[in-house]
Amino acid sequence: MEWVCSEHGPQKSLVCPDLQTYATIRSISRKVKKPAACLESTAAGCPHDCGLCRAHEQHTCLAILEITDRCDAGCPICLSDSIEDGRDLSVATVTSALRNLISKEGKPVPLQLSGGEPTLHEDLHSIVHAAHSMGFGKIEIDTNGRLLAEKQDLCFLLKEAGLSGIYLQMDGIRPDISLKIRGRDLTAIKLKAIDHCRHAGLQVVLSVTVVPGINTDHMWEMVRFGIERNLTGVNFQPAVRSGRYPQEFLPDRSTRFTLGHFQKEMQAQSRGIIRAGDMMPIPCPSPFCGAMAYLIVSEDHITPLNRILAPERLSTHLADQSNWENVLADLNGACGCSGECRPDTGISAQLPGRDFFSIGFHGMMDAFCFDIERARRCCVHELLPDGRLIPFCLYNVKYRPSPENGRTFHCGRRLEAPLL
Ligand code: SF4
Ligand code: SF4
Ligand code: SF4
Repeated sequence: MEWVCSEHGPQKSLVCPDLQTYATIRSISRKVKKPAACLESTAAGCPHDCGLCRAHEQHTCLAILEITDRCDAGCPICLSDSIEDGRDLSVATVTSALRNLISKEGKPVPLQLSGGEPTLHEDLHSIVHAAHSMGFGKIEIDTNGRLLAEKQDLCFLLKEAGLSGIYLQMDGIRPDISLKIRGRDLTAIKLKAIDHCRHAGLQVVLSVTVVPGINTDHMWEMVRFGIERNLTGVNFQPAVRSGRYPQEFLPDRSTRFTLGHFQKEMQAQSRGIIRAGDMMPIPCPSPFCGAMAYLIVSEDHITPLNRILAPERLSTHLADQSNWENVLADLNGACGCSGECRPDTGISAQLPGRDFFSIGFHGMMDAFCFDIERARRCCVHELLPDGRLIPFCLYNVKYRPSPENGRTFHCGRRLEAPLL
């Protein structure tokens, strides 16, 4: 992608490793579902009227609510630039924001309680309980896992309050990866947090920040690690130039680890167990935003679900960020595939005794690859305390409050006029 910045001149950013991959990803059709309710005023134009405005092209599939700014981990790389001091949202503010979300969506949607580190919030239990009572059925916390490793009873308490699972920051199982990306070896803490959560019945999805040259060669190992421990899935998210990050992690602005790179790496590292095409672009945002593969796992075999289920049925689950319960409910109904599954067995007959696992990729944008078309199709939304919803990439680039950036792009350019 090439463009001209009014302050910095001609710029370019890599959006895909090659033309064929680009064409394949771009051909994925989208399922458009507009938000049920939007902001009335759109006077300033995109991207100044987020909230969501009427021009936005996709409803909220996943809402992220940062219930605290605080975190004591001090990671060198941190999307939210969290430090030890900061504000916590009150339970009343959280429930008010959630009510707003329901009024805009018409119903509760999958929810991530984030931060900072949400487990530092003293009222986390009450917040989860309140959200669950309001009908939010899929509630996760984005966590570094430290307190969950220290306090097993916290895992049970949160499960009892209605928490579905955790989205556990874990960039690798090699100590050198944790040392480089997080500043210390956190492997023992992560393993303990996983054990405690699994024991409490919480689902665990690993959240891997991918930093070129540090852990891009380690992705299949993370998948295997997750499968061996019966976790729910692993999600890979390349590091972006938003929040806090060491310059040496991302030295060249024109290079980028995109969805196309991820598909190729996954095929190479798994030696073809996962093929590039098994990582199917999620059909509701731009197909360049993310992809997912659902795997059926047995003792000696890993089968990506797209090889036995008709793509149109599978894409329904991808579009709605479904969990396994939804997928299984569908699979156990009449098989509607177009012949890929053998008629004498049927899909449901193949399922008993199998485990399931998902691999996800989330190709977030920063100021140096920002594509406003992708932002307008975004379905992953930051829920603000006042109830507004902002596309998550755009929130990080433009709206996230911080003393340094105010409401400017991280390249330093303040947006004075609408882009469109
Ligand atoms: S990104 Fe979406 S909600 Fe925000 S201003 Fe643009 S169209 Fe509206
Ligand atoms: S990346 Fe997460 S764990 Fe690390 S400082 Fe930021 S909020 Fe804390
Ligand atoms: S958060 Fe960014 S990468 Fe994710 S769906 Fe929205 S625009 Fe796409």
